[in-house]
Amino acid sequence: MLLSEFAANAELKYELSEIMRKNSLPHAIIIEGAEGTGKKTIADIIAQYCVCTSDKQRPCGVCKNCVKAQDHIHPDIFYADGQQSKALSVDSIRTIRSSAYIVPNEAPMKVYLLLNCDKMLAPAQNAFLKILEEPPKNVQFIMTVKSSASLLQTVRSRSRIFSLFPAEIDDAVRIATKSFPERDISEIKDIAEVCDGNIGMTLQMLENGGQEAQKLAEEIFASILLPSEYPLLKSIQQLTSDRIFAASVLDFMTEIAAECVKASVGAEVSSKTAITVAERYSKNRIFAVSENIIYARKVLNTNVNLNLFCTWLCSVLRS
Ligand SMILES: [Zn+2]
Repeated sequence: MLLSEFAANAELKYELSEIMRKNSLPHAIIIEGAEGTGKKTIADIIAQYCVCTSDKQRPCGVCKNCVKAQDHIHPDIFYADGQQSKALSVDSIRTIRSSAYIVPNEAPMKVYLLLNCDKMLAPAQNAFLKILEEPPKNVQFIMTVKSSASLLQTVRSRSRIFSLFPAEIDDAVRIATKSFPERDISEIKDIAEVCDGNIGMTLQMLENGGQEAQKLAEEIFASILLPSEYPLLKSIQQLTSDRIFAASVLDFMTEIAAECVKASVGAEVSSKTAITVAERYSKNRIFAVSENIIYARKVLNTNVNLNLFCTWLCSVLRS
């Protein structure tokens, strides 16, 4: 993908294209933004820019280096993903440090992408800081993180921080329609709205089936009503596999909860689950469940451990 094709974030795109045009990329870059806002995509574009050998606008997207970068097989682009265990450990950072001083194989520059640095521990960050303090020549470092606040101030101050924001719902719909031309436009719009314009989440939900998330949300609601805790625990357990899927299930649960609140005050609603819940629960209980779901959705945006989150969610929904 080229920078011009990246959705929304006009300010960042302008800033970055100016930096690229002037050939003045800072040697360390931090890209921060919520899950699904395109941090990895921007990191890939910058990496491609660094290795591109076109004498016109870079990245050109067609030279040998660009093509390899797009296929993620460029020998001078290195990935270390914090989601894989020990990828960002002190030892791994030390390996990166010694390899960074070796000249590139094919491209004019070497690029190190440190992805998902959210849980990078202080000793590893300090080891990384040593590289930033005496950066090797012709090496670009790019870190991605949900919030740059999880990084040490010393690392932040030696890097340029770029912040990404979710796109407008219309942008998400436009891009999702391109990727899923066979899908019903009203379904795409519904999902983009539930995802609040978050493109990554919209695409993933379309791929995984938003219907699956909606079905599980209904199932969880129905289980809250049951006398045994087991069915609820079993349904909620399905959220541990994937954070984005869990987020979309909670978004659907928020919608159902809003319907329940409406039904509890006698308003007409279409959701059968909401009607059943309103019949069986007191208004206070429904309000409490609804508030807990909204709170749970916020908690999910932090780096909470999914297993602990599910156990906690089960207990607050039952309480
Ligand atoms: Zn190129």
